[in-house]
Amino acid sequence: MQTELYEVDPLSDNKKLYVKAAEAMAEGALVALPTETVYGLGADAFNAEAVAKIFEVKGRPSFDPLIIHLHHGKELSKVAVIPDELKDLVYQLGKLFWPGPLTMVLPKADVVPDIVTSGLPTVAVRVSAHPAMRGVVKALGHPVAAPSANLFGRISPTSASAVMKELGGKIDMVLDAGACSEGLESTIVRPYVDERGKPVLELLREGPVTREQFRGVAKVIRKKPTSAPASDEAKPAPGMLESHYAPRKPLILIEDGQTFEPEEGVKYALLSYEGTSALAEEGDWVKVVPMSPGKGRLAEAAVRLFALMREMDEDESFDVIVAEPVSAAGLGHAIMDRLRRASVKR
Ligand code: AMP
Ligand code: MG
Repeated sequence: MQTELYEVDPLSDNKKLYVKAAEAMAEGALVALPTETVYGLGADAFNAEAVAKIFEVKGRPSFDPLIIHLHHGKELSKVAVIPDELKDLVYQLGKLFWPGPLTMVLPKADVVPDIVTSGLPTVAVRVSAHPAMRGVVKALGHPVAAPSANLFGRISPTSASAVMKELGGKIDMVLDAGACSEGLESTIVRPYVDERGKPVLELLREGPVTREQFRGVAKVIRKKPTSAPASDEAKPAPGMLESHYAPRKPLILIEDGQTFEPEEGVKYALLSYEGTSALAEEGDWVKVVPMSPGKGRLAEAAVRLFALMREMDEDESFDVIVAEPVSAAGLGHAIMDRLRRASVKR
């Protein structure tokens, strides 16, 4: 299959292009689309056959449900059935964080095909802030199911070229709007009300909307990740897979307080936060790759993380990636989560 690549023009409204992409999707095509987090692999969420192709192309196990994108929060009641006691909390979250990098897991409406939610009674919903995703969803008139546009378990793509490398020839179309502005997958929460009637957010995936930002909205609880299941039947909680976002080369994460002992004859490169730590300066590295050179800005590290991991994966001058921790505050939680899942267990 020939994958058509179209550039989104930052100076025009791109209406024709969005309609073209939506028309292809209405016929069952898979179209990779930019969002502010990472590139998504989109299909008409109401077309079960097209959604099945997403799982097939990504090699994604059927137990891993997809996120669906709406063009506006007001469409939410068409795909989710929100219990009365949750209405205020969900409305507040939408008002604060939509359009934006927040995904909410809510009881699903019947119109959402079971294949989208892996048979779960809940659906994950998001309104992206990216004009291309919103424009295509609006033109299609249906929600778009869109997981990250990479092969299952691999690093999420933050550019159209990364999508082309991984899925070129396997999907119908890619819309190229340059690099993603957040660079990490959306924060996922499941809002609920506890026994005492208090609003709670179960944090299913750390992301650009940080725990701190939910302060004053609801209490946040976090479950621990689980190991990969032996079969489809023994499914883990969605999003809780320990190994994910991984390069092909081994990545060793040095957590705070851990030491690193290099092995004789192995070539290492360091993925460093600022590039100026004692480890960066004293270790025997083929190269030191800083996520946020000199300054140590978490937002910059987040934007560059996946692209740097891809680059280091393709670099033949060394064998193993060693990663340093970033500060565990704000966005640092999401960065550390991705580094942990990309790393080999020690
Ligand atoms: P991806 O779009 O590839 O980043 O993956 C979507 C992720 O959304 C899944 O791996 C789950 O973590 C999460 N998700 C989707 N639907 C649900 C759901 N119904 N309940 C809990 N988590 C979900
Ligand atoms: Mg993914």
